[in-house]
Amino acid sequence: MAQALAFFTGLLVGSFLNVCIWRMPRNESIAWPGSHCPSCKTPIFWYDNIPVFAYIRLRGRCHSCQTRIPFRYPMVELLGGFAGFLAFSWWTLPYALMGTVIFWALIVLTWIDIEHQIIPDEISVGGIVAGVIFTFFFPDWVGASAGWMSLRESAIGVISGGGFLFFMAVVGEKIFKKEAMGGGDVKLLAAIGAFFGWKGALFTIFIGSIAGSFVGIGVKLVTKKEEIPFGPYLALGIFIYMLFGGPLLSWYMGRMLQY
Ligand SMILES: [Zn+2]
Repeated sequence: MAQALAFFTGLLVGSFLNVCIWRMPRNESIAWPGSHCPSCKTPIFWYDNIPVFAYIRLRGRCHSCQTRIPFRYPMVELLGGFAGFLAFSWWTLPYALMGTVIFWALIVLTWIDIEHQIIPDEISVGGIVAGVIFTFFFPDWVGASAGWMSLRESAIGVISGGGFLFFMAVVGEKIFKKEAMGGGDVKLLAAIGAFFGWKGALFTIFIGSIAGSFVGIGVKLVTKKEEIPFGPYLALGIFIYMLFGGPLLSWYMGRMLQY
């Protein structure tokens, strides 16, 4: 029941995520004005804003100017719904709610980073603040027993996560003579550290780097494109950590202890 409710709420929030993806990199307000067609500026009626169904009914075109609505719109709506469903299947409150919001943020930043090669401060810096506050009030999120302990865990996460990537960025720039990693990535990893401590931050870099190398080589071979944003891989890394990080880490530690 909770999963179904989270799924439908997620679909609705998905339309808002689309608004964020379009407006955040353009520095437009995400609250005002209401949804309108980016092409002809016609306001979108509420019934043309019903997630997924409106896209199907309109056959993927704006009802007044017939401009194609990118497939991203129904897809992000579905992802938004799935995020809620997954989080509420995986965790109980309040973690299910926090997990859902984090998933939503990951969807938005992934899309923005792919299209614009930036990670909005609303998400990265906002994530640092939200992470510190959330872990303070719900310390067992990071396995701490008191607020002040989780605060320490969070601070270490921010410094180690952000610091490590900052260090990599500086070294990378020295070696490759060009910007290897953006400030957005550094701030994002600091936010991940705030939410998940240094273990989560390091796990994310580890998975993100492996995925990034594999996909990056593939993309380079196919499209000859040079710039591949790192943000989506960090998003993938923390997504995997959130779902499987605990068991994976204990399996790994168990293996290490055998030798
Ligand atoms: Zn239009």
